[in-house]
Amino acid sequence: MPRSKLSTIVEYLNNLLDTPHTPDYPPALNGLQFENSGEVARVAAAVDASQRAIDGAVTAGAQLLLVHHGLFWSGLQPVAGRFYRRTRTLLTNDLAVYSSHLPLDRHPTLGNNALLARELGLEPSGEFARFEMVPIGVRGTTDISTADLMARASAFARQQGGDVRASAFQDGRRTRAWGVCTGAGASADTLDEATRLGLDTLIVGEGPHWTAVDAPERGLVIIYAGHYATETLGVRALAEQVAQEFGIPWSFVEAPTGT
Ligand SMILES: [Zn+2]
Repeated sequence: MPRSKLSTIVEYLNNLLDTPHTPDYPPALNGLQFENSGEVARVAAAVDASQRAIDGAVTAGAQLLLVHHGLFWSGLQPVAGRFYRRTRTLLTNDLAVYSSHLPLDRHPTLGNNALLARELGLEPSGEFARFEMVPIGVRGTTDISTADLMARASAFARQQGGDVRASAFQDGRRTRAWGVCTGAGASADTLDEATRLGLDTLIVGEGPHWTAVDAPERGLVIIYAGHYATETLGVRALAEQVAQEFGIPWSFVEAPTGT
């Protein structure tokens, strides 16, 4: 079975995703988060570095797990309890973890945002949603019924074990200018930017209740396609890319969160 050096894969990923130069929230800790003894014969991908995902990667026989939300996503914590069990499983099974949050969200061909837009039949033509001046999301124009777009988002979310909600809108409404920001994409910043850019439809993973209250007053429909579902595409594409580049097999570990 072909084996690749973990350090070579990590260097490849850091370059591919521009990891060292992409700003992020501190708990994202992008890049290699957990080392192994140095070799990788199989790659696994998952949205979250949960015990379920780690166990799934071990069952698949992987030595490297690629995730979007890493081991430190819930903040600073002692290596005890749940966190101890996760790290023990990684150590015992020689499994490394590489995490990529905003660098993966924003990647033009492997990113969650570009891939979700294309999954819904929308072609990105511009940038949307910034973090520290760096664009993370995508936007574009189209002309389809909002109900049809909602149905496409619903079919996609259900495939990932999720569901779709939308803010209130009237029959016959059409979507012409859209923006996509996966994950927790509905926020004060993205709603303001959508209004400024004249967008009429926002497709996100999730957002606070008030965003659905404000949306109609902004002439906006927000489609909430699920935090988990909207972030399954990037890690899959990234693992497939690594698998092709290094000639090693990969698999996706399904661990839907219900959100
Ligand atoms: Zn997320």
